[in-house]
Amino acid sequence: MGVDLSVARPRLYLGERVVGQGSGGVYEHVYAPTGEVHGEVPLAGPDDVDAAARAAVAASRRWRSTRPATRRDVIIRLGELMRAHTEDFVRLSVIDNGMTVGFARFLIDSTLDWVSYYAGWTDKLDGTAVSFPWQRRDLAYTMPEPYGVIGVIITWNGPLISLGMKVIPALAAGNAVVIKPSELTPYAVELFVKLALEAGVPPGVITLIPGTAEAGQALVAHPDVQKVSFTGGPETARKILAVCAQELKPAVLELGGKSANLIFADADLDSACFVAVYSSVGSLSGQGCAMPTRLLAHASVYDEVVARISRHVSELRLGDPFDPAVTSGPVVTCQAQQRILGMIDRAVTGNAGRLIAGGHAPGGDLADGFYVEPTVLADVDPDSEIAQSEVFGPVLCITRFDTDDEVVSIANATRYGLASYAWTNDLRRVQRLTSDLQAGGVYVNGAQPVIAPELSFGGIGISGFGREGGREGINEFLRTKAISIG
Ligand code: NAD
Repeated sequence: MGVDLSVARPRLYLGERVVGQGSGGVYEHVYAPTGEVHGEVPLAGPDDVDAAARAAVAASRRWRSTRPATRRDVIIRLGELMRAHTEDFVRLSVIDNGMTVGFARFLIDSTLDWVSYYAGWTDKLDGTAVSFPWQRRDLAYTMPEPYGVIGVIITWNGPLISLGMKVIPALAAGNAVVIKPSELTPYAVELFVKLALEAGVPPGVITLIPGTAEAGQALVAHPDVQKVSFTGGPETARKILAVCAQELKPAVLELGGKSANLIFADADLDSACFVAVYSSVGSLSGQGCAMPTRLLAHASVYDEVVARISRHVSELRLGDPFDPAVTSGPVVTCQAQQRILGMIDRAVTGNAGRLIAGGHAPGGDLADGFYVEPTVLADVDPDSEIAQSEVFGPVLCITRFDTDDEVVSIANATRYGLASYAWTNDLRRVQRLTSDLQAGGVYVNGAQPVIAPELSFGGIGISGFGREGGREGINEFLRTKAISIG
């Protein structure tokens, strides 16, 4: 289609020093739609992590005492620059991980919402005055303070929105950040950092160390890093917490999910089935943490739901993510593709469910890219691997239920707890569900968006802890100091 796929070699931003070579070697970036290597990414080693953290700690002292209104204006300016570079972000986001142009644009718009929302918090952070009525002498109050340096470790599926959710509130609260993106997706993140510096974020207040797990581990362990904000999988989160445990360092963990989507007999099936498909196996090829990947349909509408889901899946178009008519691009890497196909294969051969759509890698023009057909399994055993483990690919599992009690117990029977979705017009049932479903968020009748800056987002169980969004999201980057003056 004649799209420019060229990218400049990313760099490491270590405060005043910006370098094109890291001590952790080089990663060969592969373009997921074709499987071809098309760029080198320098990787940070422990020395670079140390340089970034030292630059951050020095710069954080000035930043925390910069007037809040000045910090606010810098963040607003960053938002303006980002908006002006929307098309660059779209192109780089597609090159990063193969997401479609439509989804890239949606994520950029969402990120801009986070930028302006948290810019607005910068000058509204206050404490509480405390009165001691029995003694009329002392003045006591609380003050929110930034931590200092936040280690930000993010994954590859939506790097830009992760920066909006973490870096912007951390900066608004007066912290410096060291960002370690996934080595798989360096490009949009680097543009964000460049624009932040251009907007007036001082060098050192924002630093960038593209790197692998080694750099992530060094960042978590670094004594100048006061708190870690992490998005990724539960296995990595356990390793991060083990390192944090040494220094009793706090962490926010945004992890995976296996979210249930409950469709009751009285649901609006037109909307419920359409949204169920696009938000599980369509958008981002199923590589989203809060996607409704377990569809639980009431027995009285079960066959109808299965038929509608099959029809909507057949309307999806897999292909070149730069083609605006394409709904679903490839998955991120060859390893991800093989892992997803392996999970589907085990589910089918082990009779965990009945394959009603997809299940394979497509051939023809798409054979060299990392594509997986949008896949749906019906009659899925809720205890099977495919129903219990996060696939992080385009796979939807459908299970039948008879009663409200039964569906709540199936929905709650995984170790994850990020989101739950329900479709019903019965208000009493909605009230019961919002209390009984064990998840960080319950979203009813297609309420959108799930990841909105005004609304707290986060998990329970192995979906993590801590929150992003709303006042809670900025509080994660502040600690409260008590002051009492006699
Ligand atoms: P991952 O945990 O393998 O990697 C995430 C990041 O952690 C990467 O930058 C990686 O380099 C780094 N890392 C790896 N090992 C590390 C270590 N020992 N110490 C420090 N850092 C380390 O996750 P992934 O496979 O890249 O991403 C997929 C997971 O992310 C899924 O589980 C998905 O659900 C989750 N996710 C969650 C959210 C959310 O907001 N809840 C959003 C997107 C993705």
